[in-house]
Amino acid sequence: MAADSNLSFAFDPHADPVPVSERDQLLANPGFGRVFTDHMVTIRYADGRGWHDAKVHPRVPLQIDPACSVLHYAQEIFEGLKAYRLADGGAALFRPEANARRFRESAERLAMAQLPEELFLESCRQLVKADRDWFPQIEGGSLYLRPFMIASEVFLGVKPSSEYLYMVIASAVGAYFKGGAPAVSLWVSQDFTRAAPGGTGAAKCGGNYAASLLAQSEAIRNGCDQVVFLDAAERRWIEELGGMNVFFVMDDGSLVTPPLSGTILPGITRDSLITLARGMGLTVREERYGIDQWRADAGSGRLREAFACGTAAVVTPIGTVRAPGVEFTIGNAGPGLVTEKLRSALVDIQRGIAPDPHGWVERL
Ligand code: PMP
Repeated sequence: MAADSNLSFAFDPHADPVPVSERDQLLANPGFGRVFTDHMVTIRYADGRGWHDAKVHPRVPLQIDPACSVLHYAQEIFEGLKAYRLADGGAALFRPEANARRFRESAERLAMAQLPEELFLESCRQLVKADRDWFPQIEGGSLYLRPFMIASEVFLGVKPSSEYLYMVIASAVGAYFKGGAPAVSLWVSQDFTRAAPGGTGAAKCGGNYAASLLAQSEAIRNGCDQVVFLDAAERRWIEELGGMNVFFVMDDGSLVTPPLSGTILPGITRDSLITLARGMGLTVREERYGIDQWRADAGSGRLREAFACGTAAVVTPIGTVRAPGVEFTIGNAGPGLVTEKLRSALVDIQRGIAPDPHGWVERL
């Protein structure tokens, strides 16, 4: 429906926004995902009517019927992208069209209405414009945008909903890991997997995260920061972390990252780093890497560095890996040279410090 993409957004400004002094206090140390801006976006969908009622309005609690299908069958998807303050004081989104496409693909997998990509992009731009005073002025601070969509039909039958509610909220954020985490420790989940072939692993749906939480709790209980999942079939191949993709740096300077097999999320940071690494002349192989090999290579020194990556965590070195009765350390358990080089290349483009040869930065 071409007309859907041309929807214009009504703007209902907040009559009583958070006072400046209170906002400044919140922005001095926002942490991750707890400080929210004044506004939100909503767009509605109904079969036969298409997308309608696009609005930027004050952030308010939702009122939904208890029989709303999302509450029962978890027909829900989301995205996560950051708006950055540029070195010259402007603001920008990083590869938002990649998030728009992934959101549409997630919708397809969850049998939901597909939001036109242009509407996704415009909704993000509109919210940043409304809440442009909410950028934290701290090092590494940004505005994290959370577009998401729920099945809103009031019906208890198990079927794709005929109505959807799309929303975007924004959170002022600092570093994802407390203290900026020089390196994270990982717990290899033995009992739980994240996604199986034919399942929803490549979609960004809430259910995937609900299913990962017990494994994540186990990681914390075992003194680790994050869980790393193995494949469901053989319990052998490294897949990804609960919310990040993973890379391995070998002693010949080449990189290995698990392939997009359908069971891992196709991360936009992952894709960007592959491009940046190849641009630096490094070899990147998208191929399976086993847990036993990981341990052997860490021991022999063939593996020099490993890191996790994602919008929230950016590029974070992996220091130690633990499983029942097993623990090994990678390199010097701190940031390695290749990890650091890739991290700064990415961050410098995102912040408008370095040139943007791939056209990834959308200035607002
Ligand atoms: N894997 C999972 C499971 C994630 O939730 C995320 C975060 N969206 C990523 C990988 C990294 O994706 P991106 O680089 O697009 O943030």
